[in-house]
Amino acid sequence: MAENVKKTAKEIIESYDGPKIRIMEVCGTHTHEIFRLGIRNIIPENIELISGPGCPVCVTPVGFIDEAIMLALDHNATICTFGDLVRVPGSEMNLAGARSKGAKVQIVYSPIDAYEYARDHLDEQVVFLSVGFETTTPASCLAVKKAKGAELKNFALLTANKTMPGVYKTLKNSADAFLYPGHVHAITGTELCESLVNEGVSGVITGFTANEIMTALAVVITKLQEGESFFKNCYPRVVTYEGSKAAQTIVSEVMEDCDSEWRGLGIIKNSGLKLKEAYKEFDARDKFHLGKVEGRSNPACRCGDVLQGKCKPSDCKVFGKGCTPLHPVGACMVSNEGACSAYYQYGGKING
Ligand code: SF4
Repeated sequence: MAENVKKTAKEIIESYDGPKIRIMEVCGTHTHEIFRLGIRNIIPENIELISGPGCPVCVTPVGFIDEAIMLALDHNATICTFGDLVRVPGSEMNLAGARSKGAKVQIVYSPIDAYEYARDHLDEQVVFLSVGFETTTPASCLAVKKAKGAELKNFALLTANKTMPGVYKTLKNSADAFLYPGHVHAITGTELCESLVNEGVSGVITGFTANEIMTALAVVITKLQEGESFFKNCYPRVVTYEGSKAAQTIVSEVMEDCDSEWRGLGIIKNSGLKLKEAYKEFDARDKFHLGKVEGRSNPACRCGDVLQGKCKPSDCKVFGKGCTPLHPVGACMVSNEGACSAYYQYGGKING
């Protein structure tokens, strides 16, 4: 330990020669940045970096895409969505395919854009596909509050918003330590990660620069050698103990916990958010009386295993062959935060 204090983060990482350790990048942006910055090139063989469930598009189940297509084709709703979701395969087709059959699909960059589209197109029923974690949910809540304030009758959310606590617990035995997503904990604060230490879950919150990621990895390696469960906030310039009170307040006013289905992980108790009763008029499932939709993913796709760190993208038989970013078979190849997309984009340099 005393020797490590004098070493740089790079030296600590490169010189690690202890037993094999597994570190899960919960966040897809960390997966991409670790590839893009070349950090994998200095990771020794006995450190395995595994991808986790932190890409919102990737964890959204197939049935959600089917619901969106149903709303567009059967109920003539205009779908407003982030661009990635348009190419995620549903059971029969994706939203791009639905568009070729006459569905109205608008790409937006925020939920507020969708609210403004609805406000400016009162003759259309507009549904925003509300996916994402703690980071993006406050903006969806703000859009609903604005719609309520403006008494809009043509705006609704199809919700698949997810929260992290349940999935950390579900995956706690998948890795020796987590790299926790800095942007999520900028909203939630650090309390959850600190309490998980008592359940034997170790991890560090990190940011997204080379220095921040390298420092976080060096801390993980050093602390794991001490043999005790641990938590460190390695992103203190952004993440505080309390998190963002303003974001927490608007979410708790508009949404409440619900069980939620994660691709590959199934239904995790209290791991999602739905609109509260006072905002039910903006719930697309209620408004259009959608029944339960069971999606069917392509049996060749191993996104579910990739998202749990059970296999690497390159272990999937169709990786880089039948499945490429131009012709994605599963969600993890579509999204910019997807692990399969990262492995494909950066040449499949695989370490661990
Ligand atoms: S390579 Fe394609 S088919 Fe295989 S797990 Fe990834 S997204 Fe699914």
